[in-house]
Amino acid sequence: MNGEPIDFFQEMRRGFGLILAHEGADSAAAARALADSAFDWFEDNIATQAEGQPALACTKGCPTCCALRVTATAPEIFLMAHYIRMVEATPQGAQLQLTRRIVLAEEATRGRSEQERLDSGRPCPMLIEEACVLHPVRTLACRGHAAFSEEQCRAAASGEEVDVSISAAHLTLRALVQSALQAALRDRGLPWGLYELNQGLALTLAEPELVDDWFAGTDGLAPAALDLDMAALGQAFDELRTIN
Ligand code: SF4
Repeated sequence: MNGEPIDFFQEMRRGFGLILAHEGADSAAAARALADSAFDWFEDNIATQAEGQPALACTKGCPTCCALRVTATAPEIFLMAHYIRMVEATPQGAQLQLTRRIVLAEEATRGRSEQERLDSGRPCPMLIEEACVLHPVRTLACRGHAAFSEEQCRAAASGEEVDVSISAAHLTLRALVQSALQAALRDRGLPWGLYELNQGLALTLAEPELVDDWFAGTDGLAPAALDLDMAALGQAFDELRTIN
């Protein structure tokens, strides 16, 4: 990311808006294009954003933070659901029973607070043999959570009260990309909230028409929606529209 964060935000907002403007009849493809674009914005800019920071402790095979509640926008959930259907369409992938794992995890964690989830020690259903099987399509929230001390992460995951040093660069970039995507969805009159990942996936996987209906204005993900102050956020997005 070069220049001011506000310019970067506006550029992304316009980019997402263009994808939505050319959405055409294929809602599922549009949702995937939006999520892919969001992930590209994040991955293409994180190195610059994190320049000068200490090295991260996060490595492949460290699943310590994958017991946290994950939240996502609708396009991210739709892309992940699409990927799960593709995985399950193969004999090897079907053996992973991803949909079943997600439904069971959702039933076990529904309504639980962040801390209760962590205390339960129940990992994300996409974590198999200490690796994320959906790594290429993991959410912005997953990408934006990065830490500097494995020891601190493990202590926190085992219930100790420790401050975990988190990468501000990852957090900031995740917030910028996610907010720009939300703003563009809102500009288009689409549901623009955040949803709990497991419940959102369970709903999407159970209802093949959900993506089309969502683009037509019926939010089938509503039961998974987070209770956020959308009015204040919407006002902030409106004010930002007048800048530039
Ligand atoms: S989706 Fe992948 S990276 Fe994200 S919490 Fe689950 S296992 Fe971890």
